[in-house]
Amino acid sequence: MTAATHEAPLRDQHGRSIEYLRISVTDRCNFRCVYCMPERGLDWLPKAEILSYEEIVALVAQLAPLGLRRLRITGGEPTIRPGLTTLIRQLKAIEGIEDIALSTNGVKLPQMGAELRAAGLDRVNLSVDSLRPDRIAAIARRDLGFDPVVAIEAALAAGLDPVKVNMVVMRGVNDDEVIDVARLTIDRAVHVRFIELMPVGEMAHLTDEHIVPSAEVLARVATLGALTGAEGPARGNGPAVYHRIAGAAGTVGVITPMTHTYCGSCNRVRLTADGRLRTCLYGDHEVNLRDPLRRGEPLAPLFRQALAEKPLEHLLLQRRVGGLQALSQVGG
Ligand code: SAM
Ligand code: SF4
Repeated sequence: MTAATHEAPLRDQHGRSIEYLRISVTDRCNFRCVYCMPERGLDWLPKAEILSYEEIVALVAQLAPLGLRRLRITGGEPTIRPGLTTLIRQLKAIEGIEDIALSTNGVKLPQMGAELRAAGLDRVNLSVDSLRPDRIAAIARRDLGFDPVVAIEAALAAGLDPVKVNMVVMRGVNDDEVIDVARLTIDRAVHVRFIELMPVGEMAHLTDEHIVPSAEVLARVATLGALTGAEGPARGNGPAVYHRIAGAAGTVGVITPMTHTYCGSCNRVRLTADGRLRTCLYGDHEVNLRDPLRRGEPLAPLFRQALAEKPLEHLLLQRRVGGLQALSQVGG
């Protein structure tokens, strides 16, 4: 982490400051979560189309002087791509990059947490849709013997901070565990976020059948103790709204893409594994950065142009998802 002399903060056409890039390092995954991708998988990107780590580092090094400060490594499942620790070390060495986060299903965190932290990873989000082994395997459609509490403890022991825990709540599938997952915050400094199920690709029908509005989720959590508004984790600035159960060490939050938009405070853009810059999770707008990078052309003008075209808001409330088949294609 180093201080850098940045140009004026990057702003999009609507005046939003953009300093956060989410980088998908793979479209593949060791899970097949029911809400995320079909059980047979997707048509995986050929290796030659995926950005190499050297290319990702070169791309970030070009964008950091424009004001990019925070990165999130995501996927697919980023921990299944070999050499992730090296990538994180190299990204953290780029002048201006202050903070690196990881989104993971958590399966490899017990093995990799300490080495990732040592390489410069600051924080982690892990997905915990259930605490019951049979149900974890049923939702992920893979039985890898995953124990989310072991993964959370490993992340905390490694010194990753904050540790955020994401639960996609599905009525009749795992909503009876909302209270159990919220209880994880009582004696652990973790930040649980309940996410409203979003309609994507072949899994879109799930949303109509299973969506649980966040107000209902919070009402259930409140049976554990009075909820007070909370600051939430110091770093992150994401779309969650946080609360604290009276006396709890951690916080509970809700992410409500289906019932609210928070596009007005959007501070992020996304890079797909094959090097397309997506300025909105659910937008149609994409800019190919990989080919110009491979031709040795400067990326800053393309990045600035992309921000100039970043849409004001997504169209999820109208159930339009910009041609996405799965969130794993854009890193969630
Ligand atoms: N594999 C990593 C993981 O599971 O955290 C990172 C990628 S995953 C696509 C990122 C996030 O997107 C996860 O928290 C996942 O639960 C969420 N997600 C995927 N599909 C979703 C959907 N249809 N609705 C809501 N959240 C979804
Ligand atoms: Fe894999 Fe994450 Fe999608 Fe689950 S949510 S299938 S773990 S990418």
